[in-house]
Amino acid sequence: MSTQSTVIVGGGLVGLTAAASLQRIGHDVIVLEQADRVRAAGAGIGLWENALREFDHLGIGQAVRDMGIEQNTWFFGPAGDPVRAPGHTDADHRFLLVPRPELNDLLADTVGHGRIRLGARVSGYTETGSDVVVHLADGGALRTDLLIGADGVHSRVRRQLVPGSHAVTHSGHYAWRGVVPTGHHDPAATVLTVGHHRTRGGYARIAHDRIMWMVNQFGAGPLTGSRRERALERARNLAEAGWNDGLLAMIAETPEESVLENQIVLVPELSRWAGARVALVGDAAHGLSPHISAGGTLGIEDVGVLRGVLTAGTDLEKALSTYEFVRSARFATVREHSAAVENAGDAVEFARRYAAFSHWMLTTAPTA
Ligand SMILES: Cc1cc2nc3c(=O)[nH]c(=O)nc-3n(C[C@H](O)[C@H](O)[C@H](O)COP(=O)(O)OP(=O)(O)OC[C@H]3O[C@@H](n4cnc5c(N)ncnc54)[C@H](O)[C@@H]3O)c2cc1C
Repeated sequence: MSTQSTVIVGGGLVGLTAAASLQRIGHDVIVLEQADRVRAAGAGIGLWENALREFDHLGIGQAVRDMGIEQNTWFFGPAGDPVRAPGHTDADHRFLLVPRPELNDLLADTVGHGRIRLGARVSGYTETGSDVVVHLADGGALRTDLLIGADGVHSRVRRQLVPGSHAVTHSGHYAWRGVVPTGHHDPAATVLTVGHHRTRGGYARIAHDRIMWMVNQFGAGPLTGSRRERALERARNLAEAGWNDGLLAMIAETPEESVLENQIVLVPELSRWAGARVALVGDAAHGLSPHISAGGTLGIEDVGVLRGVLTAGTDLEKALSTYEFVRSARFATVREHSAAVENAGDAVEFARRYAAFSHWMLTTAPTA
């Protein structure tokens, strides 16, 4: 497809990856980000091999691997009994845990800061016969050939493309996270303990000098006390007979203002992912429950597929329609796996269902 102008709404993980990827196939890219800096919500992110391949394609695969710590995950019951699903090897359990701020900074450097407009909040768009006009909240407008909505779970672009597609609260599902210096802590990971009362969590190193802890609970009930107390209360469901005392200590030493708490919200299954000149990528298209630890990875996969169809096709609308077809079919299966993992009753069932998901994701991932 000939060189074209592309506006990407959202300078998060997936928007920045899309910007870098589309630049490589000759698009003249501008990223519009509402925040006043490239920021990364969250502590660390687990990236699977299918995401790292896209970073290899961008020439930053090694830099990403160098900034993170490879994990070879085991699952544990609430008293620390280790579990793995029979028939699955390390290959289905390996991922890279990376600090989010460094990753987003590397992506922004790759895109080029001159291509990222900060403080630019998009309020909507108008498709004309020959282009798209992107409207900004400050009254400004930009004309472009292609508009990519990478604006996260509450995507403005999605709500215009698919009316009524507001994100919905995953009732009672909360996640808490924090980062502490490695210091005196035992760096051996306890990711992931499947505990009592539908609680899951543990800790792992995200860099040589930092450990990330995480706790999530389905059906969490009313939240009382400080964020740190809420996290500690749930973490006790993962810490039978001294197992995970390290986790409790890490939460206790995290300053209250550094404890991240998320009420999980989900994007409903969409009837469309694309129009004639507009497409959704990342959480804007498929914000999922984080319990499968792969939403960002699958968003980066979106980018690889989008890059592939835009490279191969000569007709933009057809290319976007192929993208929509391929990605919505893949996500129908992701949703089935996600529900199965969410409803796993104990560590043994969790390990089996999670390995079924990761094996499927890795062995069927696009390779273009
Ligand atoms: C607790 C938790 C743990 C997770 N763990 C993992 C994991 O281990 N592995 C994994 O692969 N995934 C994980 N995920 C999922 C992953 O974090 C997301 O899928 C990923 O960050 C989505 O990136 P994104 O760029 O699509 O969206 P976002 O990161 O939300 O970025 C959207 C950007 O768009 C901007 N924006 C929004 N609206 C506008 C507008 N109108 N105009 C301009 N800009 C706008 C926002 O400011 C933001 O910068 C986890 C999620 C959570 C909540």
